[in-house]
Amino acid sequence: MIPSHSLFASLTHPLPPPPPPRLPNLPSFRPRATLLSRVFHVPSRRCHRQRLPWGGGAVRALDAAQAFDYESRASEELEQRARLKIAIVGFGNFGQFLARTFAAQGHGILAYSRSDHSAAAGSLGATFFRDPHDLCEQHPDVVLLCTSILSAEAVLRSLPFQRLRRSTLFVDVLSVKEFPKNLLLHILPPDFDILCTHPMFGPESGKHGWAGLPFVYDKVRIGESEDRVDRCRRFLDIFAREGCRMVEMSCAEHDENAAEIQFLTHTVGRILAKLNLKSTPINTKGYETLLKLVENTCSDSFDLYNGLFMYNKNSTELLERLELAFDSLKKELFGRLHDILRKQLFESPNGSSAPVAKDN
Ligand code: NAP
Repeated sequence: MIPSHSLFASLTHPLPPPPPPRLPNLPSFRPRATLLSRVFHVPSRRCHRQRLPWGGGAVRALDAAQAFDYESRASEELEQRARLKIAIVGFGNFGQFLARTFAAQGHGILAYSRSDHSAAAGSLGATFFRDPHDLCEQHPDVVLLCTSILSAEAVLRSLPFQRLRRSTLFVDVLSVKEFPKNLLLHILPPDFDILCTHPMFGPESGKHGWAGLPFVYDKVRIGESEDRVDRCRRFLDIFAREGCRMVEMSCAEHDENAAEIQFLTHTVGRILAKLNLKSTPINTKGYETLLKLVENTCSDSFDLYNGLFMYNKNSTELLERLELAFDSLKKELFGRLHDILRKQLFESPNGSSAPVAKDN
C-alpha cells in the first residue's frame, strides 16, 4: 500500500496531505538557500509555488519530497570544494606555525620533514610521512616548500615528482624570492604550477594573528584553466581570510626591498645580541624596542639569517653600506672629540692661540 503522505498520493488524493512532521532544534536553512542557489542553481521553492496549478497542498508535498538536509549537504559540498590538501615539506618552526592556521580553516595537512615531527603533526590533526614517496602518493593539491633556504635545493631534488598529479601547485615560503623562483622553474616538470610567496611575519610577530601583516606573492607560472586559477586563488585566500595585507610583487623587487627591511633588521638584532643586553629597572621605551628586536630576530634559526645573506645578492651591498655608515658615524664622533682636545691643547686659558706649556 502506498502511504498517504507519499509524493504519488499527494498528486492524486483530493485532500491536502498532512503537514510534514515538525523537527525541533533543526536550524532554518532558508536564508542560506539564497547564497547556495546562486552557487549550485538550487531551484527556489517559491518558483514551484507559482508555477504549479494544483494548490498549496501539493507544493508542501514537493517540499517534503526534497531531502530535508539537501541544503546542508550542498553547503558541505561547497566547503569541501574550497578545502585544499596541502603537503608541507619542511615541518619545522615555520611549517608548524602555518599548519596551525591551515588546519583551523579546515584544510587537510600532510607533513614531511627530515626529522621526526610526527607528534607535532598529530597534535595539529596532520598526517606525518617519513618517506617522500608516501607523501606524494597522497596526491596533494598543493606542495608547500617550507624548508630552510640553505637546504631547499637538496630537499626539492629529493622529491619524487612522478608520483604527484601532473598539475600540482608548488608554493614556496622562503624568505628570499629570486633564488626559489629560479630553482622551481629549473627543477620542476613544466606541467606544475608555481607560486612564490613570502609571509612577512613569523611565529613571534604573528602569534596574536595575521591581520594587517604583509603577505608577498608572485604568480610565477599558473596554468590558464579555470581549476588551476581557482586552486591558486583558494591558496592565497587562506592568508587573505586571516586579514593579511596581500602584496603582489615580482621576486626581484621583493629581494631589493627585503635586503633593507629584513636583512638589516636581522643584522642589527644579531649585533645587539652580541652585546648581551640586559633589562634594567630604568629601561626606556627605545631600549625596550631594542630588547624586543633581539628577541624577535634571535628566535629564528641562524640558518634562516645565513640564507638571507647568502641567497639575496642585495645583502652583501647592504652589509657594506652598514659598515660604512658605522665608520662614518664613528668618524663624526671622534672628529668632534679631537676638535675639543685640540682646542684644549693649543689654546691658552685666556683665549689666545698660544700653546699651553705642558709639564712632562
Ligand atoms: P629554518 O631554519 O629556515 O628551516 C627549518 C626547516 O628546514 C625545518 O623544517 C628543517 O627540517 C629543514 N631543514 C633544515 N636543514 C635541512 C637539511 N639539511 N635537510 C632537510 N631539511 C632541512 O627555520 P624556519 O623558521 O622553520 O623557516 C622555514 C622556511 O620558512 C625558511 O625558508 C624561511 O626562510 C621561511 N620563513 C620563515 C619565517 C620565520 O619567521 N621563521 C617567516 C617567513 C618565511 P627538520 O625540522 O625536519 O630538521
